[in-house]
Amino acid sequence: MNILPNDLGRQYSLHAAEYEAKALEVLRSGWYILGREVEQFEAEWAGYIGAKYCVGLASGLDALWISFRLLGIGRGDEVIVCSNAYIACVMGISMNGATPVFVEPDEYDNIDAEKIEAAITPRTRAILAVHLFGQACDMTRIMEIAHSHGLKVVEDCAQSHGNHWQGKTVGTFGDVGCFSFYPTKGCGAFGDAGCIVTDDEALAQKFRVFRNYGSEKRYHNQIVGANSRLDEIQAGLLRVKLSHLPEFDAERRAIAGRYLAELRHPLIRLPRVRPGADSTWHQFVIHVKKGRDELAACLKEKGIGTIIHYPIPPHLSEAYRYLGKKRGDYPIAERYAGEVLSLPMYNGMTEEEQTFVIEAVNAWEP
Ligand SMILES: *Cc1c(COP(=O)(O)O)cnc(C)c1O
Repeated sequence: MNILPNDLGRQYSLHAAEYEAKALEVLRSGWYILGREVEQFEAEWAGYIGAKYCVGLASGLDALWISFRLLGIGRGDEVIVCSNAYIACVMGISMNGATPVFVEPDEYDNIDAEKIEAAITPRTRAILAVHLFGQACDMTRIMEIAHSHGLKVVEDCAQSHGNHWQGKTVGTFGDVGCFSFYPTKGCGAFGDAGCIVTDDEALAQKFRVFRNYGSEKRYHNQIVGANSRLDEIQAGLLRVKLSHLPEFDAERRAIAGRYLAELRHPLIRLPRVRPGADSTWHQFVIHVKKGRDELAACLKEKGIGTIIHYPIPPHLSEAYRYLGKKRGDYPIAERYAGEVLSLPMYNGMTEEEQTFVIEAVNAWEP
């Protein structure tokens, strides 16, 4: 058997005719940028998430850095982010010249809200709450801290499309919710795409202006903006994806349910869902207490692909050497980098494939 960590072709083939019809419809429309598809997708996504406004952008990274830019956060400012975040989260902060300040994750693989206050300084302006792996941060605690210290909150929901904290969809707690529609994400496009959601009408309007060279009216540029437009084909295809998202989520929950019930190994700790949250299982991340790389190699030999999310914590990456951090500064993130392993998880994964993965993991002899 040959099982990929994520097989995008499977999900595509479940509704291929619908995607193909939509792509042709947009191609034949003669209108490719900022049109009807984008407008409708924005309305539908805002409705799905439960936010008042959605603005389509070119990528998740754009959603992040433009958020900090429009919230007025830049050089000399600090933004708190979890130490095991994806590198794009940190780049979203540092692209405007702001400084990322790392806070360690908890047992749910996301920021430990109880450690945030110790990291706040007079320069702290915002908290970036990253909902990693389809899990949710403790948004009640994070919003409490933000309110009592006068901080902005940006949520990175790139990996958490539509899961909840205490019944409310992530992305609707902070000032802005940022989404990536990179193909592997929950609602994945067929190329790069992203968006923000917010309940602040004036802020939403600023995003609309900024993404299009700072202009509302063509050739009338109010501010120095960027080109970060969601295009019509991606928006159209995302509308098809969104119409099936509840099925996709239910299928991933069923796969995760089997993994949780049937995986059993003394060296493996299964993922934990924070009480009060639900998960869309963007990734199924196990912690291997010892021999993670041996397990990955053993699975590979059997034809099972896995991924490490992520092998190098941002503070140890070459890109952030200028922060002057060293090994030992964030021991939990460093330990996680050595023990996490994401098992195959994708829509269209057969029961036989799930069984094969479960049996291979359970049979691993270190
Ligand atoms: C994918 C991702 C991003 C970046 O999104 P792009 O669309 O690839 O720019 C940011 N944050 C997280 C947590 C992600 O998983």
